[in-house]
Amino acid sequence: MTGFLLRGAWVLTQGPAGELRDSAVLIEGGTIAAVDAFSTLRQKHPDAEIVGDGTGVVSPGFINAHTHLSEALATGIGSELRLADWGEQIIGPLGAVLTEQDAHEGTRLRAIELLLSGVTTVNDMFVHYNPDVMASLGVISGLRSAGLRGVVSFGAEDIGADAAPPWGDPARMLAEHDALAAAAGDLIGFRYGIGTLLGQTDALLDRGIAHAMSRGWAIHTHLHETREELAASVARWGVRPIAHAQRLGMFDLEVIAGHAVWVDDDEIALLGDREVAVAHNPVANAILGSGVAPVGRLRAAGIPVGIGTDGAASNDSQNMLEAIKFATLLQKVHHLDPGVSDARSALRMATLDGARALGIDGIVGSLEPGKRADVVLFQDAVEVAVLHDPAGQLVYGGSPRAVAEVFVDGRRVVRDHHCITVDEAEQLEVCRPLVARIARDAGFTASGVSRAG
Ligand SMILES: [Zn+2]
Repeated sequence: MTGFLLRGAWVLTQGPAGELRDSAVLIEGGTIAAVDAFSTLRQKHPDAEIVGDGTGVVSPGFINAHTHLSEALATGIGSELRLADWGEQIIGPLGAVLTEQDAHEGTRLRAIELLLSGVTTVNDMFVHYNPDVMASLGVISGLRSAGLRGVVSFGAEDIGADAAPPWGDPARMLAEHDALAAAAGDLIGFRYGIGTLLGQTDALLDRGIAHAMSRGWAIHTHLHETREELAASVARWGVRPIAHAQRLGMFDLEVIAGHAVWVDDDEIALLGDREVAVAHNPVANAILGSGVAPVGRLRAAGIPVGIGTDGAASNDSQNMLEAIKFATLLQKVHHLDPGVSDARSALRMATLDGARALGIDGIVGSLEPGKRADVVLFQDAVEVAVLHDPAGQLVYGGSPRAVAEVFVDGRRVVRDHHCITVDEAEQLEVCRPLVARIARDAGFTASGVSRAG
């Protein structure tokens, strides 16, 4: 087998081998066959195609631990709204008009942004309120055609704010989860989606969790994102969402929860105890003014914390490098202490810890022989020209301009700084009329500021 030899001035393995100088990753088929000094591998594998000239940085592909590709075609509006108003004015109307084609093409569009910021795995929750159209299935076909690894879920909610989701019988929603689970496979995993506990009727919560339990499905949800959520939960159930989730038996299943911004010490201990994973979304938390998650305390409790961009519209970007940088900056400024977070921890959260949070660290998240070959090479850009400290440079100075090559499961998906699975110019053309239709049908009108009219 010939394979590829991905070469860097540095290889940041995130595995036991640590950070290696003048080294390379040998990819054979879909697998990492070896990680070693470039000269050694070159000698042993003279037929392998060499990728990279030895000046850049090789890293495991990033795990985007939480996003909503349902927002792929609705970015740049509503950033001055609070979460509840944003949900009512943007996400409700959007979710009512989304189709499977929007999901497919929107996913392909954002896949370019994801891949070119080093993402090789994306944990998605598609939120929509368009009954029976099975729109979320478009995410699977979109990810497959782009060559991205992913975990898909449908963020079902049957209590609306403005646009009351017209689902009626929960069975209609469970049918979409079943269809999504059946269509997953290959590079695509599945989780049972619970948009938020508060977005579901008690009937759907009970029935859905029982449904997930009978199938052994893992769960993807949001927990404790805003203070308003806590107050609404206390008003409805007499306890905060984490306590209610515990009561419902949700933590008997594997759970990854977006946010955990507003959690006290007892709640952190409970999440640690029940092995609940957290997806930290610093950019979205800042845009919505939600708060600063206690990342240090969560990690100290042994909770796997990954980093997510959050939805394309609650961040307005899927640039993972920005989310990684923000993860460190937010802690520093919040604690008024530059030493409270660091580049290596941020990269660890974006790679191996993100994989742990999704229960896929046995196959991805670090560059180790035997793992699947999800690998990124940063090279040929100002942003990686100075490598006194490769981790510091990537986190604080990295940008999509520096993403030169990306492999997912051994398949080359970015070559020479261009996505080769989705043609960017063509995809812009394809998405333009869809964006116009969504704006018309959802009633979005530009008003001179970035909010819906
Ligand atoms: Zn979210």
